[in-house]
Amino acid sequence: MKKISILGSTGSIGINTLNVIDNLGDKYKVFGLSANKNGKLLVEQAKKYRPESVVIIDTDAVDFIKSELKEIGITVLVGREGLLELASRDDIDIMVNGLVGSSGMEPTLNAVKAGVDVALSNKESLVMAGEIIEREKSVSGAKIFPVDSEHSAIWQCLTGETLEDVERIILTGSGGPFRTLDLNRFKDVIPADALKHPNWKMGNKITIDSATMMNKGLEVIEAHWLFGLSIEKIDIVVHPESIIHSMVEFKDKSVKAQLGVPDMKIPIQYALTHPRHITAAWQGLDLIEIESLTFQAPDLNRFPCIGLAYNAMKQGGTNSAVLNVANEQAVYRFLDGEIGFLDIPEIIEKTCENHEWIEHPSVEEILSLENWASNFVKSIESRYI
Ligand code: MN
Repeated sequence: MKKISILGSTGSIGINTLNVIDNLGDKYKVFGLSANKNGKLLVEQAKKYRPESVVIIDTDAVDFIKSELKEIGITVLVGREGLLELASRDDIDIMVNGLVGSSGMEPTLNAVKAGVDVALSNKESLVMAGEIIEREKSVSGAKIFPVDSEHSAIWQCLTGETLEDVERIILTGSGGPFRTLDLNRFKDVIPADALKHPNWKMGNKITIDSATMMNKGLEVIEAHWLFGLSIEKIDIVVHPESIIHSMVEFKDKSVKAQLGVPDMKIPIQYALTHPRHITAAWQGLDLIEIESLTFQAPDLNRFPCIGLAYNAMKQGGTNSAVLNVANEQAVYRFLDGEIGFLDIPEIIEKTCENHEWIEHPSVEEILSLENWASNFVKSIESRYI
């Protein structure tokens, strides 16, 4: 039996992970759950899965959760401190990190340091601290299993292959809701437009990242750290149908692709059961129904965030951490109606240019830059609102 903790259990990845565990039966036991604010759902999940511990970040919900869970013997941990404590436990087999944004970095690091394998949906962990996480992995022997459809696809394509035979990897992206929007209309985009993703149902932050295509930029950086390939070997192809989740081209020009319906339960389950593919009842792929698959080059004028991410990675050091924090804060300001859609890439670029660059930052230095960058973003005035 494998013991699993799920960080972000009430979010989209967390809920899908629990569905996967339902599918897998009693070979997997939920050991810990964490939620940000949704105490009601956390209590429901805890009553069903009977973990040893739960974490609630929002202190307003603590009394309610304690009163509901105390009599059934579940420990309730509170706040950021409680989250980091759960993530440091070395007596579990897999920690699923479904947290949103840079807040996921330290929990990933704690688990890796504790020698616990991480099923990682929080790509920001690797974007912020890829070098440190890689170093800690080699010390503790912990592994990272990607829970991102593209990286799961690459992982599956690389199974049984030799890394030095890889010519390049091709990350596919749907192009989001604005793939064909008239360039003159980008300045008028409002959050409700950007939150309509054509193929995937996800949380708000990643949905906006898909609309700017920063999500693909972050995934290029994520792929670099996960697979140890240089940035020059990672390409992006726009594939609006979201059926091919990514591809690997080998030196003999043979290309392997992984296909499936756009459903996160598939990459989540593979992260838990690899190298096996276990029977599941959810919907399968009907290629005849889909009929055709199409591809386009990514448009860097339309989506400048892609270029910003490649540049940050090429410059190395703290650039990708600052890019990530600036993006996150800009996205929240956009969702709050404080800045326009076109402010997002401008703010990210400005924040990267103005930060004090460090080639090999420590965790403390990354955290202090995170603080600096989020304040800097808040100080920038919108040019479009
Ligand atoms: Mn993805």
